Order: sequence, then C-alpha cells, then structure tokens
Amino acid sequence: MLGLMQDWPLLCHKILDHAAIQHPNREIVSRSVEGPIVRTNYRDVRQRALKVAKRLEQEGFQVGDRIATLAWNTARHLEAWYGIMGMGGVYHTLNPRLFPQQIAWIMNHAEDKALFVDLTFLPLVEKIAAEVKSLTKVIVLTDGANMPQTSLPDVVAYENWIGEADADYRWKALDEKAASGMCYTSGTTGDPKGVVYSHRSNVIHAMLACMPDAMGISARDTILPVVPMFHANAWGLAQSSPMVGAKLVMPGGRMDGEAIYELLTTEKVTFTAAVPTVWLLLLQHMEKNDLKLPHLKKVVIGGSACPRSMTEKFEKNYDVEVIHAWGMTEMSPLGSLATIKPEYAATTGDALFDIKQTQGYAPFGVEMKVTDDENNELPWDGKKFGRLKVRGPAVAAAYYGGAGKEQFDADNWFDTGDVAHINENGYMQITDRAKDVIKSGGEWISTIDLENIAVGHPDVAEAAVIGIAHPKWDERPLLVVVRKEGKNPSKEELLAFMEGKIAKWWMPDDVAFVDEIPHTATGKIQKTTLRDQFKGYELPTASSAA
Ligand code: AMP
Repeated sequence: MLGLMQDWPLLCHKILDHAAIQHPNREIVSRSVEGPIVRTNYRDVRQRALKVAKRLEQEGFQVGDRIATLAWNTARHLEAWYGIMGMGGVYHTLNPRLFPQQIAWIMNHAEDKALFVDLTFLPLVEKIAAEVKSLTKVIVLTDGANMPQTSLPDVVAYENWIGEADADYRWKALDEKAASGMCYTSGTTGDPKGVVYSHRSNVIHAMLACMPDAMGISARDTILPVVPMFHANAWGLAQSSPMVGAKLVMPGGRMDGEAIYELLTTEKVTFTAAVPTVWLLLLQHMEKNDLKLPHLKKVVIGGSACPRSMTEKFEKNYDVEVIHAWGMTEMSPLGSLATIKPEYAATTGDALFDIKQTQGYAPFGVEMKVTDDENNELPWDGKKFGRLKVRGPAVAAAYYGGAGKEQFDADNWFDTGDVAHINENGYMQITDRAKDVIKSGGEWISTIDLENIAVGHPDVAEAAVIGIAHPKWDERPLLVVVRKEGKNPSKEELLAFMEGKIAKWWMPDDVAFVDEIPHTATGKIQKTTLRDQFKGYELPTASSAA
C-alpha cells in the first residue's frame, strides 16, 4: 500500500521561491567585487535568478549542462546558482585557489559549457579558456561600466546579459533526483574527484543543517558565510539560509580579519561559519585592536580541526558559542556537529571543552561507524580508533566518471579516509587522515591531537605534525611550528608545554621552526608538501637507535 500524499519533488529552486514568498524583503548584503557594499533581498534575487535561467535557455543551454562558477560569495553568485539549477543546469563551483592547470583539468573533466566568473579571476580564465574545449560562453559577474577589455571570445557582462531578459520564466519541472550541482574534492593526492549533488540531496541537506541541534539557524538570524560557495556549497548555507529566510551577508573576496570584523559588526551578524585559518586572522585582528563582538552569537568552525584554544577564546573572551563541525564535499558537506546533548547538561569547564573539542555527533540523515582494517565495526568507547564510514541521503554514492570506486562498499558505506573514534554518547573525534596518521612501533599516533596541544601554546601561531622515518620505530612525530610574530619559544619550552597532556610515547622527537606551513586550496595543512619539505630529515633520536 502506498501513502496517499502529494508528490512534491524536492527541488532547490523551491527554496528560493519560499524565501521570496515568505521573506521577500529580507536583505542580502554583499561586499561587491567592485568594492562597495550592495544590498538586495530574496524577492529581487529570485527575479534575477529567473532571468539567468531564461537567458541560459535562450542561449541554447539544456537540462544537465554543467555551468561553472568561479566566484566569491556575493548575491550575484547566488542568483547565478539558482538560475542555473532552475533551468535544469548543474552549477559547478570552481575553487580559484587551485592552480590554473588544475582548474582547466576539472573543467574539461566536467565538460563545463559556460562559466560565470568574477572580475578577480578573469586573467586566470584568459589563461585557460582555450584549453577547455566544451566552453562556449563566459559571463563576467559585473556591469557594463566595470567590464574590462578581454581577449576572450563570447564574453559578456552579467548585468547587460540578464538585462536582455524579463523574469517571465517557469522553473523547469525536474525529477528531484536530477543533478543540481558539482564540486570537485581538493584531492591532495591523485586527480580531483567530482561529487555530483542532486536537487533532493541538497534540499535534504539544507533541512538537516537548519535543525536546532545542527546549525540551529532561523529567520531571526543574520548569517555571514565566510566559507566560500566553492568550498562544499558554503557548507550548505547558500541553501539553508534562504530556506529559513535568514538575512545573508556575503563577504565577497575579502576574508582578512579587518574586513570580516567590519561586516560582523556593521551588519549585526549573529551566525557565521568558516575554517580555523579565517578565525585565526579575525582573533588576531581583534586582540591587536582590543575589539569585541557585541552581536555574534554562534560560529561554526570546521574544514580542519578547530584548536581548543580557539574555542576557548571565542567562548571565554567574546561570549560567542563555538560549534565544531566535521564534513566533506562528498557529504554536501555536513557530517557531524558538536552541539551539546542533555547527557552533558551538567558538564562545565574543561570537561565541556573536551566535548566541544570533538567533531560532534551525526544529525538525522547521517549514519556513522568506525571500523578496523577488516571492516569490523569498533565499539563506541571514545578510545578505539579506526576508519570512519558514513552513509545517508546527502552522501555521495559514486564519483563522477566512476573514480574512487574502492571508497564505496556494497551497503553504501562511504569510506571517508578519516580516522576517528566515537564515544558512548555518539560524539566522534577525528584523530587523523588515514594517510597522515603516524605509525610508531605498530601503534598509531594522532597528529591532530598533537597539533591541537602545540597550538595552545601562547607563542605558537600554527603547528603541524608529520611522521619522519625512524630506524627503530618506523615513524616518529616531528612538530613543525610557525612562531607568533615577535615570539621566540624554544624546542625545550614547547615540549615541556606538551608534557603530561599526552602519552609519553606520543611526544614529538623534535621540533622544527618554519616561517610558513603550506595549505591546500580549502585551507587545510598540506601534509604531502610538508612531508616532501622534510624528506630525509634526521631526527635526533635516530642516531642513538640505529
Ligand atoms: P573537504 O571535502 O575539502 O571539506 O575536506 C574534507 C576533509 O576535511 C575531511 O575528510 C577531514 O579530513 C577534514 N575535516 C573537515 N572538518 C574537519 C574537522 N572539524 N576536524 C578535522 N578534520 C576535518
């Protein structure tokens, strides 16, 4: 017997329709790429998204065509996204921090037919456009007055282009399983892999993200997604914010501490989200200038492990609640959030920060387990760590073109490549990427744990831990440190600071000081490059062991 309920396909453009009907005047404020702060609202964004859809269709683009965007978070980017999806196209966000050759490779792999690009990245596109054979149209997200000279063929200023259409368009009636968007993983090894979202997965993900014990956002929030739309859908905020009708503040291309602080205060932002490196810049800016955060209530930190010192600073010094979150491009991206279950209602002080330090628990819509190398499920005891596997309606079932088949098993479990343990209350803690974990004397050492402790030292700006070959133990940890400006902590001081906070045999064998630690295009520490940098490094403990 089937249910007798309506078939109302979960389509992304319905989110924007809803926002335009229920919250038409809610503002969307952008720091434009041209410079000034510009204001619009959900009603106008929808009207302009309809024009985008109509123009794309007039140009001959069809359902299923991949239409790329290479752009910062702005209202124009949002309009382009919804316009692309509404005509049945597949938005494909490109990460401008990748090398031009990688971007060209990704565009060719996805066979992008058109590209919406910010002024910032036009020189980059001029370099690679000829290599992307499928590309027939470039739309520069600006107006005629700001349109520069360019060597590109078939290029047009966005405002002129949509100016030629009216908004008399009906969104395409699509199957909810139709592809809505694409995003390639940043892939520190091998070729990037394409994740293909569906309308259904994006809508379900947006709903799960909004839930009170997930991001917990509402129409009364003002949301600043610092996390870019090209980094895993701005963690879903480009869909969940219009879903609840929150005011949106889009930071454009400026993500330095000063620019972010300005938006947080002038727009009275209550909720924001980004990777730890962004917050490092903001905290430094605020400390230097003795500033406060009178409006901000919540900050979601993820993408890489949030150092405990960062959580403590936000909560103790600025009275801002930190939600540590974990996720992946393959998961749309939310996988877990460290909000507080009633089991910890009476927990306070350091013990509460211990919980907030974890990557949290999976909301409805994400199933999670950890297994050993033989795929046996490990107990949820907060100790035994193994491979973290997930499944759910917003988790990838395959990569575009069939790459990475070995990461998916017959029961739909996706092997995240992360190593983690889960405690008795369901709180998961990432201890490493499987390929970064240090194998010492047959046991595993978590590099993330060591980094978190090291970065808690007041003179340390950033820390990374890598395994160095060792004649006796296979591998031993090397702590690589960037010192804070004007500070000069010694190796002995740092090791003494770590002592007692971890098992003795986890203590790094040496400390190396560097000016800079390499990062990936999504702000993670690039351990592969760091390992190359320290190839052949001789640990002081190696000679005595040999
Ligand atoms: P991406 O798809 O670029 O967002 O990268 C996903 C990967 O980032 C995950 O598989 C983790 O290795 C890492 N990651 C994301 N969030 C966290 C977090 N809160 N703590 C530790 N690692 C994280």
